[in-house]
Amino acid sequence: MFDNKERTNLEELGEFGLIDHLTKSIIPNEKSTIKGIGDDAAVLDFADKKTLISTDLLLEGIHFDLRYVPLKHLGYKAVQVNLSDIYAMNGIASQITFSIGLSSKFPLEAVEEIYEGALIACKKYNVDLVGGDTSASAQGLVISVTSIGYVDQSKVVYRNGAKEGDLICVSGDLGGAYVGLQLLEREKKIFLDNPNIQPDLEGKDYIVERQLKPEARRDIVELLAEKDILPNSMIDVSDGLASEILHICKQSDKGCKIYEEKIPIDPMTYDTAFEFGLDPTVCALSGGEDYELLFTIPQSDYDKVKGLLDITVIGHITEPSAGCDMISKSNKVHPLIAQGWNSLKKKEED
Ligand code: ADP
Ligand code: MG
Repeated sequence: MFDNKERTNLEELGEFGLIDHLTKSIIPNEKSTIKGIGDDAAVLDFADKKTLISTDLLLEGIHFDLRYVPLKHLGYKAVQVNLSDIYAMNGIASQITFSIGLSSKFPLEAVEEIYEGALIACKKYNVDLVGGDTSASAQGLVISVTSIGYVDQSKVVYRNGAKEGDLICVSGDLGGAYVGLQLLEREKKIFLDNPNIQPDLEGKDYIVERQLKPEARRDIVELLAEKDILPNSMIDVSDGLASEILHICKQSDKGCKIYEEKIPIDPMTYDTAFEFGLDPTVCALSGGEDYELLFTIPQSDYDKVKGLLDITVIGHITEPSAGCDMISKSNKVHPLIAQGWNSLKKKEED
């Protein structure tokens, strides 16, 4: 890592020098930011709006692998996955804090790359970086992002509001991030066996990007507002469709029926899943990291969503005693189960 590049030892700068170096050109833009970096705490003002706060912790070796995740992408993704939680409340993200723990293997140039990625995400999504913390780490890289946003009290969407008869909708397409990860893992193994072989990711840009450079769906929150749709419940898809639907159903005390044939899967995800001997539907259900929005709307709003290309209706909410099921393409009933991605199975016959 960083072998061919300039290396500036972090000890040369010290903690305050590093913070100053990383943050000196950061200027807040949002009107809700009264005070950003530089004091003991940031000061924010959301006037009559409700404040939303969400935190994620990312640990090297647990949540990311620096052997195939470029540092700039890591910074970008760390911000995106956090903003996604604010959008999942139907809110607008406006600030983040970005905290970092660095082991001695990281030169200044590495930290600069992480910040470059984080700041690109902030700029793109109109979010101010208003603080953080910086520390040495005994082992590995640690990143923690807290995102802050706002929403009208009457527009907050919780996981627990699904109503019987609601249509279950999902944005974008699913499974791509997981299949992209399989591709990166394969190339990593090949590289470790023979470092002279360059990764072969040709033509797979979409799914590799789904894994390395996810985009939180602020556009969907805006689209829903524009179409005058207020979901009854919403969650972002970080752990896979099955687990997210089960969260909504459990918290809302409801059941659901989703239809395998309706689950949106990109053709590249579909084909590449088969190359790996994986069932594309299982990748969508249990893969995770797609950062799409899953939400339920009253049936009476069907006309508002039916023409929207980026939103797919995949099923409906039922009474709780009906359970939570997926109807397969061959019309069989499969109870939905929340699987972590470690338990993803190879393709089985239906
Ligand atoms: P404290 O001792 O109160 O934790 P610091 O010296 O760590 O203060 O931080 C000084 C300022 O720099 C604060 O505004 C803090 O939010 C900001 N800051 C520290 N680390 C980071 C970072 N990694 N990214 C952005 N801002 C940071
Ligand atoms: Mg500090």
